[in-house]
Amino acid sequence: MIKELGLKKFQSDANGIYILSKIQIENIAEDFLKILAPKSLKNILPTPMGQIIWKLKKNYKLDFIFSKDLDQTDDGRKIFGEYRNKPPKIFLDKSFKIVERTGWKFIIAHEIGHYILHSNIKNRENIIKDTRDNLLKVNHQANKNEFDWIEWQANKFASALLLPKKTFLFSIDKLIASDIGYGYPHDYLFVDGQPCNLKTYWDIIAVLRSTFDLSEKIIRFRLIDLGKLKDERLYKKNTQDVLYNLMVKLFK
Ligand SMILES: [Zn+2]
Repeated sequence: MIKELGLKKFQSDANGIYILSKIQIENIAEDFLKILAPKSLKNILPTPMGQIIWKLKKNYKLDFIFSKDLDQTDDGRKIFGEYRNKPPKIFLDKSFKIVERTGWKFIIAHEIGHYILHSNIKNRENIIKDTRDNLLKVNHQANKNEFDWIEWQANKFASALLLPKKTFLFSIDKLIASDIGYGYPHDYLFVDGQPCNLKTYWDIIAVLRSTFDLSEKIIRFRLIDLGKLKDERLYKKNTQDVLYNLMVKLFK
């Protein structure tokens, strides 16, 4: 997969961690979808995680285990997901029921991000244990160590996989231009305390939720990340704080 995605062309640091920008991660996620679920780049539909998991199992010998209690880290934090390198395996804690539309898709997408981007890291344990803290690394600038850095990369990959930039932006623009947002004065979603703006906001979020089969929090996360949501109710907080708080709610 690493070869297919042409990752070797990217620079990496002394420990084999690729030095990647947000845009480069977007492009890697898009190339990944081209190989495993090309329809999701052309049609407006949820990223077919079941199909992706099945193909990764069958064609790339990446194993998935959903039935294990992943327990806690040594310092008492609950482990939600895990990536083991040798042989490659992804674990999802059994408390996440696949049928429920909670954070499971994000965790699996995050672990796939580790598989794609972090299989060749040197001088590290071959197991990445993901607690809530790891799934909250949304601020690139604040990342001070390699651990933060790889978690940030996996999170960027996950949101780009679940909500592909092209189809997601197309959907927003279409919704804003539709009857729901008729006469909308912005090319992004705007919300403040006014009832009419709140109504438009919730109507558009509801359509996006059902279109992409994801929770409101993941949709909001991606909207803010792509600069497509201005929430005046949060005007005092900066974007990274808003993203962080959303992820806290998602994995509480
Ligand atoms: Zn992680």
